[in-house]
Amino acid sequence: MDETLSLLTSDMHLEPDGENTCNPILNGKTLGNVPLNGAQSDFIPISEVVLPNGKKMKVLKSLLTSACERNCYYCPFRAGRDMRRATFQPEQMAQTFMAMQKAKLVEGLFLSSGIAGGGIRTQDKLLDTVDIIRNKYQYKGYIHLKIMPGSEHAQVERTMQLASRISINLEAPNTARLEQLAPKKTFTEELLQPLIWAEEIRRNQSPHQTWNGRWPSSVTQFVVGAVGETDLELLATSEKLYRQSSLQRAYFSAFSPVRDTPFENLPAEDPRREHRLYQASFLFRDYGFGLEEMPFDDTGNLPRETDPKLAWARTHLLTPLEINRATRTELLKIPGFGLKAVETILRQRRLNKFRDLGDLKKLGILADRAAPFILLDGHSPARQLALF
Ligand code: SF4
Repeated sequence: MDETLSLLTSDMHLEPDGENTCNPILNGKTLGNVPLNGAQSDFIPISEVVLPNGKKMKVLKSLLTSACERNCYYCPFRAGRDMRRATFQPEQMAQTFMAMQKAKLVEGLFLSSGIAGGGIRTQDKLLDTVDIIRNKYQYKGYIHLKIMPGSEHAQVERTMQLASRISINLEAPNTARLEQLAPKKTFTEELLQPLIWAEEIRRNQSPHQTWNGRWPSSVTQFVVGAVGETDLELLATSEKLYRQSSLQRAYFSAFSPVRDTPFENLPAEDPRREHRLYQASFLFRDYGFGLEEMPFDDTGNLPRETDPKLAWARTHLLTPLEINRATRTELLKIPGFGLKAVETILRQRRLNKFRDLGDLKKLGILADRAAPFILLDGHSPARQLALF
């Protein structure tokens, strides 16, 4: 069983989970690959995820089966690729996870699957697994469950009743790009539709049959940089999903070629692009920016060298803002001010005026970054100039 799990968890680092991109825990001296049942040869990569509340959690990330009948061009599990495959039956997977959880090796589960026998059948197997974990073993912790392409409405609803978080990976920002990445998936019917259903269920149905009395959030993932899609395409789709489908998070995974796939000779995407896309998507998710305010160049891409908020401020915040009077909306647009910093400023300025950068710094705020764009009690803050 250890070997099966080893096969099913390999390459799962490609699937993000949690508030931060998930890191497989690779080294015994940091947090340790954990040998299961003491078998040193069978190392199971335990991943650490950071949840929206900041809590870190060790999670088992696994497939139910690594067999797949689809042929997505970027994927190590694609049909026909020469690799050892493995499959767990729902009860085996449930028992394995519960054993690891009881041994305190993991605190949560991220479960996905290759597609075998169609999306609907595969989703049923995932649901059977989580049903066993929740109802037979009475597990009350974190489960992130994938929704397979082409799942039915009732399956989306059941998944939402059992999971703490659900994900449906769009992979591409639109139909044309998806055809270039994953020719056997259909963008609207198989991928977008379940996300729309999830939001309709959240809005229109009572969560009283969910395992914890709350509907789970939805996340999605895009593969970035394999087929020439622009940042504008990716962010336009993400922004629409944040607005219309209460998406909690869009993940951007910089493409990295996999041996023996049709994309094996394509160059890997620059990881800075992934970083800039995250920064931009947070600007319209959390900071009140509109898509049209993003600093796209003529090709529809963000600058790689500059934080998009800073690039925006350099062309739009030409008149410095008085920190002691600026509205919350205005403060959120100042580079260096995150969500917590803005709340701190709003709270503290009721007690005392901010007069210099030191007043901000002693509250842990990145004041130097904000300095060119602000006034403190009517004055531009004195800054230490860079020596070079
Ligand atoms: S459906 Fe999923 S597992 Fe199968 S080839 Fe595509 S991305 Fe890979």
